[in-house]
Order: sequence, then structure tokens, then C-alpha cells
Amino acid sequence: MAKPAILTVDDDPAVSQAITRDLRRQYGSEYQIVRATSGAEALGVVNEFALRERPIALIASDQRMPHMTGIEFLEQARVHAPEAKLVLLTAYADTAVAIKAINDLGLDYYLMKPWDPPEERLYPVLDDLLSDWRREHVEELGGVRVVGHRWSERSHEIKTFLARNHVPYRWLDLERDPEAQRLHDLAHGGDAELPLVFVPDGDTLHGPSLIDLADALGLSTRAEQPLYDLCIVGAGPAGLAAAVYAASEGLQTVVVEREAPGGQAGQSAAIENYLGFPKGLSGADLTQRAVAQARRFGAEMVLARDVQRLEARGPVRAVCLGGGAEIEARAMLVASGVSYRLLDAPGLAELTGRGVYYGATASEARQCRGDDVYIVGAANSAGQAALNLARFARRVVLLVRSDSLEKSMSRYLTQRVLAADNVEVRLQGEVVKGRGDEHLEAITIVDRSTGREEEVATEWLFVFIGASPRTDWLGADVARDPKGFVLTGHDVLTHPAADRWPLARSPYVLETSLPGVFAAGDVRLDSMKRVASAVGEGAMSVYLVHRYLTTI
Ligand SMILES: Cc1cc2nc3c(=O)[nH]c(=O)nc-3n(C[C@H](O)[C@H](O)[C@H](O)COP(=O)(O)OP(=O)(O)OC[C@H]3O[C@@H](n4cnc5c(N)ncnc54)[C@H](O)[C@@H]3O)c2cc1C
Repeated sequence: MAKPAILTVDDDPAVSQAITRDLRRQYGSEYQIVRATSGAEALGVVNEFALRERPIALIASDQRMPHMTGIEFLEQARVHAPEAKLVLLTAYADTAVAIKAINDLGLDYYLMKPWDPPEERLYPVLDDLLSDWRREHVEELGGVRVVGHRWSERSHEIKTFLARNHVPYRWLDLERDPEAQRLHDLAHGGDAELPLVFVPDGDTLHGPSLIDLADALGLSTRAEQPLYDLCIVGAGPAGLAAAVYAASEGLQTVVVEREAPGGQAGQSAAIENYLGFPKGLSGADLTQRAVAQARRFGAEMVLARDVQRLEARGPVRAVCLGGGAEIEARAMLVASGVSYRLLDAPGLAELTGRGVYYGATASEARQCRGDDVYIVGAANSAGQAALNLARFARRVVLLVRSDSLEKSMSRYLTQRVLAADNVEVRLQGEVVKGRGDEHLEAITIVDRSTGREEEVATEWLFVFIGASPRTDWLGADVARDPKGFVLTGHDVLTHPAADRWPLARSPYVLETSLPGVFAAGDVRLDSMKRVASAVGEGAMSVYLVHRYLTTI
């Protein structure tokens, strides 16, 4: 497979040569470094790559060029290379223009010239951007190959698991790719055993369960110790933050996650309101950094395991995992967040995973290239998905039940959604039916203001209509409100749903009605439902766990 490219554009031959030399030295083994000396020439390169379906990972352009400025060039280049990371090389005087381009154009970074020494002023920035790009293109880079049918729910589940666990893989569609058929024949794959997963240096897996797949990939699926200081259920922002602080402070810590680290945040295309990241960062990026940090401090991860029950065994708290294993700890943190609410309309349940999706990963976004896509929802998650999918889809229609988008979506997102050329917002629009044989073929939308129904053809429906906690596994000892949100701190004593607290001392702020079991993040009653607050609560819970451990 051809290397992805890095394209540099600068009209000054000396500068152009210098940056090409620096890039070749650092990235030449993994990327093809291509250079152009004008915007027009560079646009020719971009078009050529698009025609040959070859990826451009990053474009670095000078701002001050004759005939076409760097920003004008990047704006046009983006049409044919929508996934490339965009960097502007600027002089100090152009800073304001560059900052504006972050919002208007989606510029990823601006670098001040000169960038000497590159080890300090060029490579760290490009390393970050390129590793983001690679993460977003795990499908095209990987040694793992998945062979199956495009509209199969199992294929979707496995691809999502690989993507969200940052395992590079290549998807081969049996209907479209001759290589897929060849591999299928070689592996004697019957229809019942699809998808096939080819793991380098490993066995071929026939329709594997997620835990078998995780095992084959060498992901950790079992706890190594009989007893921990702290067991954290859920590796979203709250759980990961708790893992970082607990492990860094010397607590023996294990995190159990049933899907993939990152939780809801891991599915966000761009988190723009997290402190310290003015350009925003993707959920995948935040997750990978957090997992690396937690591991570096010694926290253990147990992946692809569902916690199904909580038990109090004297001073020890235990969780029972699907498949029979259990983990004991002296304290427990419930950071299991919330899960997508399902859209209740005839025909949709049968087509889930086959055109109807809850949430959207980068891999689905790319598969919608050139198609019409419908999104249901009006909150920030729906807005982010609309902008992300609009990079690939021909047209994105955002269906909003109420008569205004502003009521539920942050202003910065609303403005961008309304400004996007290929995004249409349909207020008072509601999906009432889905139809399709093998996969979604059409949806019926009702206009709530007139009652008029319309069937539209589409293969893609993405649903973002809020979420609810699934906390039944906590059992009777941990009090929840009627919706399932966990009571903590003062609420354990005063909330109408609270009926027990066994100790003379008051519960700690994030402690549940079962002493030694804490809750943080979206799963907690009245939590703020933001990445920053989940991270804050996760970190804070560790301080409270320390206090609790001194009492037992
Ligand atoms: C698409 C999208 C975009 C968003 N964008 C933003 C944004 O831009 N800014 C912002 O501030 N917020 C954003 N949010 C909200 C933010 O992501 C959440 O508030 C945050 O992730 C909550 O973190 P958490 O750790 O409490 O829970 P979650 O992120 O929900 O993580 C919980 C984890 O627990 C796991 N789990 C659940 N039950 C079990 C079990 N029984 N056993 C094992 N594991 C279990 C889940 O698989 C999950 O990984 C967005 C949300 C979505 C869905």
C-alpha cells in the first residue's frame, strides 16, 4: 500500500527546500513528502492524489504567497482532501488571520516561521497531528483485516470495537472487494461465521465474540490480582481520570470497561470546550492520551468485560463480570456513565447496525461519502456529528423535534451547523418509521407543525436523542432516583428515593448509599454531563477514597 503523503507549499525555494529536508528526515520512512511552490501547483497535486484515491495526511502551507494566500489555497485543497490535517506557516503579523482560520476553515495549527530547531518547534506539533490522522485512518493502515458484508450488524460491532480501541484494521467488503472473496474462500468462511477477522501472526477468527477478539489482539481482558485498593467501573473520562490520580498516588487500581475506553467522549469528533485545547481535540485523542497516562502510572485495564453485579462482602466490595470472573477491591468507583436512548419507531430496531446507528465513529463517516445522511437530535452531540458527517456526505439533514435549535445546542455549534453548505436543519421533523430489507432504505418523517408525512430514501440514519444510565447491576444497596441516576453525598440522606445509610458519619460528597462505593460523572444524579466535570469528579473521588480507606 502506498505511503500517505505530506504536502508542503511555499513560494520561497530556499524555505521550501528547508522544510522538505526537515520533514524527510523525520517522516520520510512513513510518509511520502511532496513539495509545491505555489497554491496552483499544490492544488494540482491534491487533485491528482484524490483521483488516484491516495491519502494526504497533512498539508503545510505558507500564508504569504503571490496569487493565492495559504488560507485561500487550504480552503480549496480541503474539498479534495477533507481528511488532511491543515497547518499554516505564518509570520507573527498573520497571527490574527490564522486564529480566524481555526474557526472558519478548521485549520489544525499555525506555526511561526522560522521553526528552528525543528525538534522543538516543528516535530512535536506535527507528531501530534499525524498521530491523530493515523488514529482516524486505522482502517487503511492496519494489519488486522475484517471480511464481511457491508450491512451486517456483527461487522459493524467488530469494526466499532476495533476503531474505538485504536486497533488499526482494514475492512474488506464481500460484495465489492475481490480480495475479500479470495480471503473468504481461503478461510472456508461460511455465511453463519461472518465476519472473518484475520489477525497478523494469529488465527483467523470466524464471527468472534468481542472478548475472543480482544484476547486474540492481546488486549487485557482479565484482572491480574485477587484484591485491589480501587476498582473503577467504566473507562470514560470520569473513570480514566480516577485511574490516573489513584494509580499515581500509589493505589492498586483496576478499571473495567465493557466497550472501549473513552466512553461517550471517545465518540466525539471534536471536544471544543475542554480547558487547554483552544482548537478542540477529538475524543479519540483525549482517550488515547488518558489511557497511556493511566497505564504509565500502573493502573490495570480489563477490557471487553461487562460488570453485571455488585456485592458487599464485609469490608470488601466485589464486581461480577460477564463470563464468570470477579474482581474484589477495598473501594469501588461507579463511573459507568449513560448509554444512548433508543428511538422508538416501527422498523428501526430491526435495522440497528444496518443503516440505523446510535452515535457515529470515523469509520461510518467515511462510508457515507457522497450519500444523503439523516441525523436525529438537537443537542451538541448531534451538531458535532452533523459537521463531521458533512465532510463526507453529499447532504446532511438534521431532524429536530422542537421549533428551535438554539434551545438545546451551544451557540458556537449552532452557528457552524447553520453556516455549513451541505447541512440542512429541519425543525419540527420527527422520524416515525424506518424501512428496508437487508439494510435501511427509507425513513418516514412527519412535520409536527402540519402533520404531513413524507418518505425519503436514505441508507443512513444516526440517532442522538440523549442517554440514560443503565445501573440495574448495582442492586438494591446502592440507591438511585427513578431514572436510575446514582445518589451521592447529601442526597443519600435527603432524597425521596434514599432509604438507607448505615454509618454514624455522613457520606462523603461522592459516596453512594453503600459505604466505600463512590460514583462520578454522568451516572451521578445532577451531574453536569460534560467531559470536564466528569474528569473533575473522577479526580476528586480519589481523594475521598483515600479518606474512606483510612476508616476501614
Ligand atoms: C457524541 C458526543 C459528543 C460529546 N461532546 C462533548 C463535548 O464536546 N464537550 C463536553 O464537555 N461533553 C461532550 N459530551 C458529553 C461527555 O462525553 C460526557 O459528559 C462524558 O463522557 C461523561 O463521562 P463519564 O466518564 O461519566 O461517562 P461515559 O463517557 O458515559 O463513560 C462510561 C463508560 O462506562 C462503560 N460502562 C458502562 N456500564 C458498564 C458496565 N456495566 N461494565 C463495564 N463498563 C461499563 C461504558 O462502556 C463507557 O465507556 C459528548 C457526548 C457525546 C455522546
